[in-house]
Formats: sequence, C-alpha cells, structure tokens
Amino acid sequence: MSFHMGGGTQSGSGEQVANVISFDLEHWYSATLLRDEVTDPADRIRTSVGIVLDMLAEHDTLATFFTVGEVAEEYPTLIGRIADAGHEVASHGHTHTPLFDLTRTAFAEELEASAEAIAAATGRRPIGFRAPNFSVTPRTQWAFDALVEAGYLYDSSVFPVKTPMYGVNGAPLHPYRVDPDAPFTDGSASANGLVEFPIATFHPRLRLPIAGGFYGRLLPTRLVEMGIRNLNQRGLPAMIYFHPWEFNPAVRTDEPPLHKRFISFHGLDQTRDVLDSLLATHEFGTCRQLFERYNRHERMFNR
Ligand SMILES: [Zn+2]
Repeated sequence: MSFHMGGGTQSGSGEQVANVISFDLEHWYSATLLRDEVTDPADRIRTSVGIVLDMLAEHDTLATFFTVGEVAEEYPTLIGRIADAGHEVASHGHTHTPLFDLTRTAFAEELEASAEAIAAATGRRPIGFRAPNFSVTPRTQWAFDALVEAGYLYDSSVFPVKTPMYGVNGAPLHPYRVDPDAPFTDGSASANGLVEFPIATFHPRLRLPIAGGFYGRLLPTRLVEMGIRNLNQRGLPAMIYFHPWEFNPAVRTDEPPLHKRFISFHGLDQTRDVLDSLLATHEFGTCRQLFERYNRHERMFNR
C-alpha cells in the first residue's frame, strides 16, 4: 500500500487524499459542557465559519463539515457557501443530541431531518455522519444499521480511545467496512456495509487522541504532527477534527465553572497557528474523497 504524499491537492479526484480535516459545525454553546452553563449566548457561527473557510482557501484545502441539521435550516446561505467552495457537508445529527439520549427510531428521524436540511441548503444529500460527542459505542451500535437504512455510506463517530466522556477501547484505528454483528472489530474486510473512518490516535499501542478538539488544543502541535506522520507511514489516513468556534476566541465567556472553561476554551488563541501549521505540512481532503478512494481500491481495507 502506498500513499501519494505532497504534490498539491487534487480536488475532486481524491486520489491524493492522505488525511482528512473535518469540522463539527454546531453553535459553540451546543457543546455538552456548555449547554446548561451559558445564558443568552451570542451567535458566533458566521464569523467562526468565515475564519475557517478563509484559512482553508489560503491553503487550497478541502474539508468536511459535519453540520447539525438545525444549523443548516437556520443558516442555509452559510451552509450553501461552504458547499459552493467545494467542501463536503455531512450530517452531525439534527439537534446535536448524543445517541445515548435517543431511541433508534428517534435517531432515524434525526438522520432524515438533517439530510433534508442539508440537501435543501446545498442541493446534495449527505453521505456521511458523525455523532455528537462521538456517541457511537457498543451501547448504541444499532446506529450502524440505522445509518445504512437511511442511505448513509460512511460514519466517522468511532473514537478508538476510552475517555471520560466517550470512546471505545480496542476499536480499529484504520478505515474499515462495518460488520453489523461486530461493528467495533476489523473482522470482515469484504463485508459490504458502511465504511467507518475512526478518529486519529497517536500510536497503535499508545492510544493518545491527537485528532483535535480539546486534545488538539492541549497537546503540542509537534506531537499532533508526529502522530499524523506515524499514521501515514503505516499507510493510514489521519482523521482530524475541530469545531469552527475553536478558531474564534470571541466565544470565550466567564459563565461556566473553571473546569468546564478549561476544557472548552483552553488554547483558543493558538488554534489558528495549529491549523495553519497542520495545513502547511500535510495533505488533507474530505471524507467523501477518502471514501471514494477506498471504494476504488478495495484492497486498501485489507490490513
Ligand atoms: Zn458536536
């Protein structure tokens, strides 16, 4: 297996997509830690998305925006602008409710509602999904069947490190086709199901999350870059994620208690430098491009 690193972005073909840069697009105050802590929050979504779109354009890089359906309903022009710039718009649920708090039926409704909202804003139904709070775990593994039934082609919700809030210990670290009977194992390379793109971790044994969000702000950028190189050297893509609001220090507020402020706002002044450095040193594209590449080269699943 070989990866074609460097050599410019081949927008559209996906042939050169080594890594994915993704953004979970929700209101900054939709985060679980902040939801009940802020009163009358300011709307920062247009500014935050604008910052990210400018940076991506500067680096000639396409990204995937996992967008909450309600946000697509509320800001169809903004979401249309993201799609018009060539980025992929995928689903982050309709109401940003973690799957732990949904029945399977309610989840199916979330998938359909978000797909309709995204299609209305972009003219294209999403093919991919990321669960709020990475809430696809053994407790909610019915999600995989629901995704297939709703017409989704890939999922990127498995966080293969157990953290206090989410994560699945021992889940595969590489893209795989999901076996509905054993969705967190790499059993059947030929299973014809949904494709899972797990979130990047630093090392197969030292499963340190490097993907972004709080960890991306906490860890030194050089460690994140080393993690991406490790994955690429093993022929694996790194799935990186941030939130657009993390690039907009104006979201900072004193209302939440200290520990929640730390997790939510730590490092907000450095995130632009972090993203700049990542985009300058590594090749990134969209999940859709990576999906198409794996689909074209089925052997890439055989690990
Ligand atoms: Zn989210």
